[in-house]
Amino acid sequence: MLELKKIKKSYKTGDFIQHALKSVDMKFRKNEFVAILGPSGSGKTTLLNIIGGLDRYDSGDLIINNLSTKKFKDNDWDSYRNNCVGFIFQSYNLISHISVLENVILSTTLSGYKASLRKKKAMEALDKVGLKNHMHKRPNQLSGGQMQRVAIARALVNDPDIILADEPTGALDSKTSKQIMDLIKEIAKDKLVIMVTHNEDLAKKYASRIIELSDGEIMKDSNPINDKEKNDESINIKKTKMSYMSAINLSFKNLMTKKGRTFITSFASSIGIIGIALILSLSNGFKIKIDEFEKNALSQAPILIQEETIDTSSIGKEKKDNLEEYSDTKTVYALKLSDTPVSAHINKIDNNYLDYLSKLDPNLISGIQYGYKTNLNVLVKSDKTNLISFLGIATSLPKSDDVSQVITDNFDVIGGELNNDMHNIYLLLDSKNRVSEEVLKSLGYEDNVSFDDIIGKELKVVLNDDYYKELSGYFIPNTNYDELYGNENNITLKIAGILRGKEDSDFSNFSGTGILYNDSLMDYVVDKNKESSIVKAQESKNINVLTNQEMTDEEKETILSYLGANKIPTSINIFPKDFDSKEEIINYLDKYNKDLKEEDKILYLDQAKLITSLSGSIMDAITIVLIAFSSISLIVSSIMVGIITYTSVLERTKEIGILRAIGARKKDITRVFNAETLIIGLFSGILGIVITNLLIIPINNIIYKLSDLEGVAMLNPIHAIILILISVTLTLIGGFIPAKIASKKDPVIALRTE
Ligand code: ADP
Ligand code: MG
Repeated sequence: MLELKKIKKSYKTGDFIQHALKSVDMKFRKNEFVAILGPSGSGKTTLLNIIGGLDRYDSGDLIINNLSTKKFKDNDWDSYRNNCVGFIFQSYNLISHISVLENVILSTTLSGYKASLRKKKAMEALDKVGLKNHMHKRPNQLSGGQMQRVAIARALVNDPDIILADEPTGALDSKTSKQIMDLIKEIAKDKLVIMVTHNEDLAKKYASRIIELSDGEIMKDSNPINDKEKNDESINIKKTKMSYMSAINLSFKNLMTKKGRTFITSFASSIGIIGIALILSLSNGFKIKIDEFEKNALSQAPILIQEETIDTSSIGKEKKDNLEEYSDTKTVYALKLSDTPVSAHINKIDNNYLDYLSKLDPNLISGIQYGYKTNLNVLVKSDKTNLISFLGIATSLPKSDDVSQVITDNFDVIGGELNNDMHNIYLLLDSKNRVSEEVLKSLGYEDNVSFDDIIGKELKVVLNDDYYKELSGYFIPNTNYDELYGNENNITLKIAGILRGKEDSDFSNFSGTGILYNDSLMDYVVDKNKESSIVKAQESKNINVLTNQEMTDEEKETILSYLGANKIPTSINIFPKDFDSKEEIINYLDKYNKDLKEEDKILYLDQAKLITSLSGSIMDAITIVLIAFSSISLIVSSIMVGIITYTSVLERTKEIGILRAIGARKKDITRVFNAETLIIGLFSGILGIVITNLLIIPINNIIYKLSDLEGVAMLNPIHAIILILISVTLTLIGGFIPAKIASKKDPVIALRTE
């Protein structure tokens, strides 16, 4: 079943060629105990390594099962070693960082048995060599004889047909040697055992056949096979493979033997992760804070729709021309209106649009405030002088289903009280309690007035029919204010309260100062004025009934507004309930414009949005720059992991040899070292995230002290996971080359290293 045909093997060191084996011919029986005797350097180990598939012959052929191995690939040799051959070495060659039991199990792992079966087989093998009670010890806790027994158990565990032993008792005293030899003799009952030794006594005492080797040649064979002997029994070869879990387990155990170094390596390579994680958590945190700020404050800033507005979409879209900037040319060019970057736009707010707005979901808005062209004829009597004067007022309180809510959210009622009665009007002050001089004067006061004096102050709205008198075709206003003031048709208004914008409310920034009235007052007055004779006259004529001058249709609309006959606003402020409502309102407003011509569109201004998009993109830019910087430390750390892995490869060279001897493929060796870097990468990633979360605590304290912002730095869990994955990927890349180097190591040389 096993035959060597003219096997030659030589080693070349420099110019010197050492012929270790010179055309060796040999045949073995399926069941015999062969001792190979010979002096040191005669080629015994070389011969055994070639038989075991650990080393390759230069020429000749090794026949296994009547099968030439000339065309064997690496994989075939690996499988052959794993399930046909069991090696026993002089120096035991156990893996020191795993237990006795695990050393034996490892061999079965490669054959792909189930975990439970593997453990059972390993325990049985250990039992056979009398070491059941020592199986959880580390190899270095055993005596030499015991270690050799472990090696025998490992050689037996896959039940191979061939056991190759290279001076198995060379390092043992005579008493222990005898025990080991007895054990091997026992094994040889149903296996082919080939044992190399230079101890002639041992060979003679135990072996059934002695082959003497000298200088790479067979000198003597005590029991050669003659051609008549039938020798066609077969051995079977299964493919081997190491699972990822075994590779990880092996490397994890290895890393556990050097915890200090593993920790320092992981810590060093986690620094890059910490850097990036901190930057991300800060920028993430600041973004959340900005968002919150916008939602709280800016979202309440109204969406402005004004008669004259700018087209914000035109910003930055100046027409291209051929003119050079800061040139020395002596020509003057015309700047055309159409070239200017920001174009003006006239919003034609009409009943159609107002209808559309009235259908806006009331749940989205906290209020709509209108400014009108519509004039109210208001008379005021001065408290001091009793003089009566005329006052035009034009700003409504925010209109809403629940007026008091918008007002109390955004204004302090600092005098009087607030209610929904249309007869009540309010004075809106700025942060320094000021109202425009003009308003104050027309109410009959000089530079200042106490709240007590002004609250309760009455104003009279004079209706058109009382105010305008017809005089041969056109109308003139009655200037006899004393007579008008006492008219019983007048609507009496009363200053019921004084309002001031809240310190933290943006609403007030957009409201200005002045007299605010309830929108229902305007509805009431407009209804009355529509029936007035001056309005009826104006509607039927194309000349201005006040001046007798001709006018256009547009001018006619303006006059009708002035006469208080229509309620077309010049400005509309829509106050959204919250950030999300605002998005919906804007969508609603955009929908109106969708199919309209450019000039018919109603454009709005959303200040909050202008601020938001700017701050967001600045944040992004800063974040990207900082991340780019800390990525450098990531690259440095992956190079470091590469170096560390390479060191580990050097340290584990012997282990690589052992693994190959028990049938591990090159791929499996790569796997073992990839597992090592994977563990380091995973650990350093997790370590980085943990440290980041610890650092966030003092960082947030400092930010809180500096800026009053609470809990700014916050690591997004998704970022954390991505960073751990990056850490794993980078360390894998760093360890890739050393892992490849490891897999390329010659198992024979690897085994010879100490
Ligand atoms: P033995 O096991 O009988 O002591 P070996 O098989 O180890 O002998 O070695 C046979 C010869 O081949 C020796 O002369 C040894 O120096 C040489 N040899 C073995 N391995 C190598 C190698 N890797 N490189 C160079 N020479 C080697
Ligand atoms: Mg040797």
